[in-house]
Amino acid sequence: MNRRHLLNFILAGMMLPAVPNAFAVSSEVRSVRTSRSSDRFRLVLDLSRPGQYRTFTLDSPQRLVIDLPNTTLATDFSKLDLSGTSIKAIRGGSHGATGSRIVMELSQPVKLDSLVLGPSGTFGDRLVFDLHSKMSTAREVAHVASSPAPKPVKSPSRDLVIVVDAGHGGKDPGCISAKGAYEKKVALAIAHNLAKRINKEKGYKARLVRTEDIFVPLRKRVDIAHQYDADMFISVHADAAPNRRARGASVFALSSSGATSAMARWMAKRENDADLVGTNSLPLQGKDSDLANVILDMSMSTTIASSLDLGHSVLSSLGTVAKIHQKQVQQAGFAVLKSPDIPSILVETGFMSNAQDSKRLLNPRHQQVVADRIFDGVHNYFSQRPPVGTYLADQKAAATA
Ligand SMILES: [Zn+2]
Repeated sequence: MNRRHLLNFILAGMMLPAVPNAFAVSSEVRSVRTSRSSDRFRLVLDLSRPGQYRTFTLDSPQRLVIDLPNTTLATDFSKLDLSGTSIKAIRGGSHGATGSRIVMELSQPVKLDSLVLGPSGTFGDRLVFDLHSKMSTAREVAHVASSPAPKPVKSPSRDLVIVVDAGHGGKDPGCISAKGAYEKKVALAIAHNLAKRINKEKGYKARLVRTEDIFVPLRKRVDIAHQYDADMFISVHADAAPNRRARGASVFALSSSGATSAMARWMAKRENDADLVGTNSLPLQGKDSDLANVILDMSMSTTIASSLDLGHSVLSSLGTVAKIHQKQVQQAGFAVLKSPDIPSILVETGFMSNAQDSKRLLNPRHQQVVADRIFDGVHNYFSQRPPVGTYLADQKAAATA
């Protein structure tokens, strides 16, 4: 399903009027207040200083999310009276390295209006969010902006952020081919090519989890994707199969309910074992800092559905240059794909355990072609459903205007 742009009647992607260097220092949400009229529910965040924000929606269940970069929450949302509103539940927590996230679970679609208010009287900087039930009239919506406050400024369209993860690294070589070639090197080469390809395209920005031969724990890779506020996470691999004749590319997404095939289960086990390299045992679950706070309890079904769509697009594209090992996107419990809100896929670009595959995977020209095809799949996915507020969304709107 479409992430971040489900409710096209929500005005999203706004930010404060630019204030030079205003965002260098972090802000704090000191309190939250609510008020309501017949079909409008107003949420006011009192800030210690001006801050940026971004809103988007998720579905299944329907949620409205407010991200506040460089902002901490010094207030409690659990005491708010939400009776009679479209909000079933609201929670807040830290998000990324320095930001916060507020998530509202909705009982019905809403239209959102947001306002940025500067200090006035006894009040300081405020962010105001008005939720109108879908039935509310245009007149009432217009009425929201009647205060003498600065109007929200539409943010310049942003780049899509793709986090590219080269599998394994450092003390974890990944799979080793019969001729002694390391998966970690192939993965890094293709990841580098993919990042370069992404950065060449207007509207995209790539971030690499690792740029050299170092060990990065799986959970850390997920955290890095969050720190970059990724729109998408792609982990690049070239693995082994018990059957040395097995060859071709496969794409994997997370499963919340068990593996779709024995192969998928086997792959997930192999990849999840990466964290066990050189240690006696290192549990994958447990002490996550950022991630656990907010949304792990919420359904991941939307994100998994997006991951499957993305995976399908990448798999079709890869099919033009490589044999496809499995025609469907496979699902299993890959630890590295466990971002609750970032569509994530793991691409097995081929089998290092197969002589023909491994020869091709070591060829720089093939590495480039594979990276290009992965990008085509990504671009195809986002061109069809560009998230609100992105350059791609603007392009699409311009093309259909
Ligand atoms: Zn691998």
